[in-house]
Amino acid sequence: MTLNNKINNTLTYAQQLDKDDPLAHMRDHFSIPKQANGDDEYYFTGNSLGLQPKLARECVIEVLDAWQQRGVKGHFEGDYPWLPYHEFLAEQSAELVGALPTEVVVMNSLTTNLHLMMVSFYQPKAKRTKILIEDHAFPSDHYAVESQLKHHQQDVVENMLLWQPRTGEELLNHQDLYQLIDQQGDEIALILLPGVQYYTGQVLDMKTITEKAHAKGIMVGFDLAHAAGNLVMELHSWQVDFACWCSYKYLNSGAGSVAGCFVHQKHSENTNKESQLNRFSGWWGHDKSSRFKMENNFKAIPTAEGWQLSNPPVLSLAAVRGSLDTIKIAGGITALREKSLKLSQYLMDLITHELSNSIRIITPQADSERGCQLSLMLTVDNLDGKALFNALEKNGVTTDWREPNVIRVAPVPLYNSFEDAFHFVRILKECLK
Ligand SMILES: *Cc1c(COP(=O)(O)O)cnc(C)c1O
Repeated sequence: MTLNNKINNTLTYAQQLDKDDPLAHMRDHFSIPKQANGDDEYYFTGNSLGLQPKLARECVIEVLDAWQQRGVKGHFEGDYPWLPYHEFLAEQSAELVGALPTEVVVMNSLTTNLHLMMVSFYQPKAKRTKILIEDHAFPSDHYAVESQLKHHQQDVVENMLLWQPRTGEELLNHQDLYQLIDQQGDEIALILLPGVQYYTGQVLDMKTITEKAHAKGIMVGFDLAHAAGNLVMELHSWQVDFACWCSYKYLNSGAGSVAGCFVHQKHSENTNKESQLNRFSGWWGHDKSSRFKMENNFKAIPTAEGWQLSNPPVLSLAAVRGSLDTIKIAGGITALREKSLKLSQYLMDLITHELSNSIRIITPQADSERGCQLSLMLTVDNLDGKALFNALEKNGVTTDWREPNVIRVAPVPLYNSFEDAFHFVRILKECLK
């Protein structure tokens, strides 16, 4: 075991790190839930529901006011009219995932978008009928894929190809995936994988996966629920075919808020009748200049917007706008990632130093293989996990518990401090006694 001997495990040191942190001021842009004693909670569940940016609240109220004062004219009037409201989000959303503004659209919810994307990108033909996912995919993704297979009358057992960790291991091994692609590539129509695995926090090599898949003629989509707002990505240059993400985790836009979707330009701009993708369409995906002529001749907008169905929930889009503006104030995703790596490294070092006999970190340690989330496996015998979780809560620590023995903690660079991380380890250590 390599203990990091240089770790300074004092509160003063944590406070010094906060003083030196150029993003420390961002915490003031958020409302932090309070403990019973009035102190801020130690909130580590930004990977599940991000905290409320004060700007998100303002933007939502602005839309409520516009509705109150303008009625239907709100569609066209004011600084942020509703008709093009989603367009105000495109540039910053695109930056988050490394895309062109025309390649992203904020619409629907995550699982809905996964389905809409699979309608376009899963076209079983002849021998090529399989969808490859990971064995421990988020249940909603698993169900979505399963139902798409059934929708196309494909046998689920035969056509749902699962990439599994090796026996006794938690993490996925990329070599195993590449072998599957090598051996069965001709039968795989689509690969759908997460950018960050939700349970272990493992980051997948989206660039290489896309290259290997494309070499075999396979479409590739990523679920970025745990990657958007967490990692720096380059979806456009990686040639990813599509991606979907929700906005309520690291994008802090409120429970169930409207989601993001990426479609690579090469697909949205394709006018070749032979290779054009089929889609489920609605009037909001129709050419803007003729949308209100109300004719029945669908002409898709040649961008990701062409996949929109309905006029979007503007109250929810407003929350996304406030949230994206908050990220912009912080200096964007590159600045956030820089702090994130420092903060999670600090937490990792502290846990290794203080708790290595009761906790094993299952998240990969290398920078390139993790986001901000650390998944901690409790290795204490006969531990009552639920009791421990409750004890943490009682001491003001909010984390996410996964049966049977994993705590997921996400120090979020936008609002978590080094001092938060310090107190988390201190309290966890006390609770374990
Ligand atoms: C959070 C999450 C979801 C949730 O889906 P919704 O449609 O937003 O309810 C789905 N998939 C993954 C991988 C997630 O992390």
